[in-house]
Amino acid sequence: MFGVVPKPIWEKHFAADELNRIHFGLNSILIETPAYRILVETGIGTMIPEKFLKFYAVDRKQGLVQSLKDLGIKPDDIHYVINTHLHFDHCGGNTLRKAAGEIAPAFPMARYVIQKEEWRYGLEPKYRDRVSYFQDTFAPLSDHDRLQLAEGDEEVVPGVSVTRTPGHTAHHQGVKVQSGGQTLFFFGDAVPTSAHVGLSYIASYDLYPVRTLETKKRILNQAEEEDWICAFVHDPKHFFGKVAKDKNKFVFLPVSS
Ligand SMILES: [Zn+2]
Repeated sequence: MFGVVPKPIWEKHFAADELNRIHFGLNSILIETPAYRILVETGIGTMIPEKFLKFYAVDRKQGLVQSLKDLGIKPDDIHYVINTHLHFDHCGGNTLRKAAGEIAPAFPMARYVIQKEEWRYGLEPKYRDRVSYFQDTFAPLSDHDRLQLAEGDEEVVPGVSVTRTPGHTAHHQGVKVQSGGQTLFFFGDAVPTSAHVGLSYIASYDLYPVRTLETKKRILNQAEEEDWICAFVHDPKHFFGKVAKDKNKFVFLPVSS
């Protein structure tokens, strides 16, 4: 998760267990505009084989659908789902298997917004990261006519747009939300935790780490200059925060709400 950063340094942010595992979140965000409900990321879901869940020691607790239910929201109430990319820990809850065995969209009324080239790549991934793609979590969306393929930077609905943030995958996208003069930015795996605000923190499984670095410099500069609220997909503690600049370094600032 931390690439070239040595353990004695990253361990200050994340304590490892006896198997060298660290505790990570699978954070989705729900955006409500006057007309739409938009879900960003769907976590691991129920389609992933048991051996993977064991390998990653997935702690299910109540899951995304129940969390939405607690807010009074049913799967049918979601108008859009946005995936930053199609690795299983970001789109695993896109689909589910019905009693008859058929795979169906988990949010049946939603349009799923995915970068077109990420979609193409996900259907035929290269050896390097093919274990991260489970086609059952996204390919059936096309059969059910639920797919909305984005080509680069696009507005999804007024105030919510996707923007290319390449590096982790070639066609990874971030999500920008603008409301009342404020901006929230969901980085996905471009900056997966608050520790990754540090420029040298680039996961070793990023396909194009030098591009990740370029992406991070660009968006973190903007986040600092425009005082964005930053959302981190994998941070177990800080779902949101801000960034400041200290000389040539970016520093994470927690926010209380
Ligand atoms: Zn990923």
